[in-house]
Amino acid sequence: MQIKNLFNLKGKTALVTGGSQGIGKAISMALAEYGANVVVNFRSGKALAEETWKEITAMGVECHLLQCDLTEVNSAKDITEYLVKNKIEVDILVLNASVQFRKAWNEVTPEEFELQINTNLRASLFLIQQLYPAMQKKQWGRIVTIGSVQQVRPHQQMIAYAASKVAQVSMVKSLAPQFAPSGVTINNLAPGAISTGRNEEVLKDEQYKKNVEAKIPVGFIGESSDCAPAALLLCSDAGRYITGQDIYVDGGMGLNF
Ligand code: NDP
Repeated sequence: MQIKNLFNLKGKTALVTGGSQGIGKAISMALAEYGANVVVNFRSGKALAEETWKEITAMGVECHLLQCDLTEVNSAKDITEYLVKNKIEVDILVLNASVQFRKAWNEVTPEEFELQINTNLRASLFLIQQLYPAMQKKQWGRIVTIGSVQQVRPHQQMIAYAASKVAQVSMVKSLAPQFAPSGVTINNLAPGAISTGRNEEVLKDEQYKKNVEAKIPVGFIGESSDCAPAALLLCSDAGRYITGQDIYVDGGMGLNF
């Protein structure tokens, strides 16, 4: 077996939450490039989602756009209903969407706290609850949660967000040994500072950008595409012996240097 064949995803279907832009889009594109059909979930940015659909279908695979707000309590069930209705079976689940608010710890409101925990943590668990049984039946599945360097370097103005990412890793570590006998792996991929729509505004401030870069051993802010190869590894047969891991794609930012 040639190593490159282990990355082949032909015949697999991936669901990527928040797959319409940024890191989620880069991961969706990489999975499509290696042959997977992709269901791209997004919340409200239809134009961006449609652009992603065009780019993915141009690679000769199927792409479905699935609009659903993961903050909603029934979102996992709604997504499952859509999948069943469209006869889609998900082999690869990438839990990428997240919500974050920048605020001092003592100004966070209960509503903001809930929005972050519900999107970044609750939705992940309930989507796994819905989609794992089919993976178990097939004896093959890949689940990747997207975490953050904030698991080890919490931003002082993102207390609930950072906590939600740590909790997600705990979930990964709990589920990995339970899923392993079924050929289903689950891992967390933790990006560092990556240039995407969510931080475009703050990174326009040159001084702020320099301060961030000073915390990154490689010396620069990453691109969304920097996260895609590690995700591809975790989502393919090449990653079959990796489970329960927390992998940093952060230019060394999580190191205490
Ligand atoms: P972006 O803000 O660029 O994109 C977020 C995506 O998630 C969009 O597709 C958005 O859809 C979707 N989304 C947001 N909220 C919801 C929701 N409630 N329901 C459904 N979809 C939703 O994010 P990034 O690419 O920057 O981040 C991706 C992941 O990487 C996140 O988990 C983030 O926490 C993590 N991360 C990012 C870092 C960075 O520096 N960028 C650093 C560390 C971690 P729509 O546009 O339609 O709202």
